[in-house]
Order: sequence, then C-alpha cells, then structure tokens
Amino acid sequence: MSLEDIANKVQVCTQCPLSKSRTLAVPGEGPVDAELMFVGEGPGAMEDIQGKPFVGSAGKYLDTLLGLIGIKREEVFIVNIVKCRPPGNRVPSWDERNACLPYLHAQIQCINPRLICTLGNTALETLTGENSISRVHGCLLRKENNQFFPLYHPAAALHNPALRVTLESDMYELKKTLDKFEGSSYSSEINNKTLDPFL
Ligand code: URA
Ligand code: SF4
Repeated sequence: MSLEDIANKVQVCTQCPLSKSRTLAVPGEGPVDAELMFVGEGPGAMEDIQGKPFVGSAGKYLDTLLGLIGIKREEVFIVNIVKCRPPGNRVPSWDERNACLPYLHAQIQCINPRLICTLGNTALETLTGENSISRVHGCLLRKENNQFFPLYHPAAALHNPALRVTLESDMYELKKTLDKFEGSSYSSEINNKTLDPFL
C-alpha cells in the first residue's frame, strides 16, 4: 500500500469512535524516503481543523527543535498514534490506539525509517511497551526490527522549562546518533545555539 492509499483510508476511517467527533482525520505527512519519523499522541485542535500533524504551538516548537540540529520539517515524516482528535485532547484509549495502529504500521513499512522518535509517553508505551519516559528519553532503544529514540513531548516541554532543557539536549544526542549512521542525509552542520527559554 502506498502512503497515499493509507492517507485516503484514514480520511474516511470509522474504525473507532474518534471518527464521530473529528473534523478532519490527520494521516501524517512527510517524504516516503524519510530516515527519521516523529510519532506524537494524536491530533489537537489545530490539527483537527487543518488535517495536518503538529501545526499548533507544539508543532512550532517541534520545528524549532529540528532547526537546532539542522533538520527541516519537510525532511522527516510526522505522524501520530491515533489519526483523529480525542475530545478535549484526552489520552487515547488502548482500544482507540489498537484500532488505529495498523495505519501507523503500514506507514512504517512504506517509509522504513532508520529511526523512530516517539514524542511523549503515549507514543513510547504504544510502540515499545516501555512506560517510563523519564528513564529512557534520549537513548536508543531497539525493539523487533525498529530503532526508537524516545523524546519528551514538545507540548509538555513548552510548559516546563526544566523539560525544555532536557528535550533540547536530547535533540543534540539525536544528532550524534544520526551522525553515526553511515550515509545519513542529516549530516549537515548543527546550529549550535541555546534556545531562549521564554520563547
Ligand atoms: N500533539 C500531538 O501529539 N500531535 C499533534 O499532531 C499535535 C500535537
Ligand atoms: Fe480510524 Fe484511527 Fe480515526 Fe479511529 S482514530 S477513526 S481508527 S483513523
């Protein structure tokens, strides 16, 4: 199945109750040859309206985080565990996650990314079974045929200056990990500056 076929199915999906309250489903976006994939929890209010992932304040911060290590949003694949917004941004239930996971698995199969960065605990525990982000953030995890690099969720870090520092230093760890991959397309010079914590 192509990425386009997957997106077309997601847009009309009624496999779980989140289909009833969504405005637009958010299949995810990015190039099919992306080496890096970022997986969030689920669409928020802005994403639900626009049908695109990470376009609200967390998304702007994600762009900034990528910029810190010289990566453009257009170079990575950005997606969520559930493709439809949970009402009030609640954490998606396991039934909802499990209903939606075949789409993510199909996307991972199409893209075959070198590294999957989970954003926050929901993506981490859903994809790896690991449930302590504070223990594994910024480390390379291998599960079955995939390599994961867990990060804190940018939305959580936006409201917590200490988490921001951690998340930003994990981005530099991510850069080091990518640089070790032979022939990586993300080996440009890093933009080595510290972010304004009040940005
Ligand atoms: N938070 C997420 O987890 N995903 C989005 O797409 C936006 C905010
Ligand atoms: Fe389908 Fe996933 Fe949306 Fe549920 S969240 S309706 S499974 S696309």
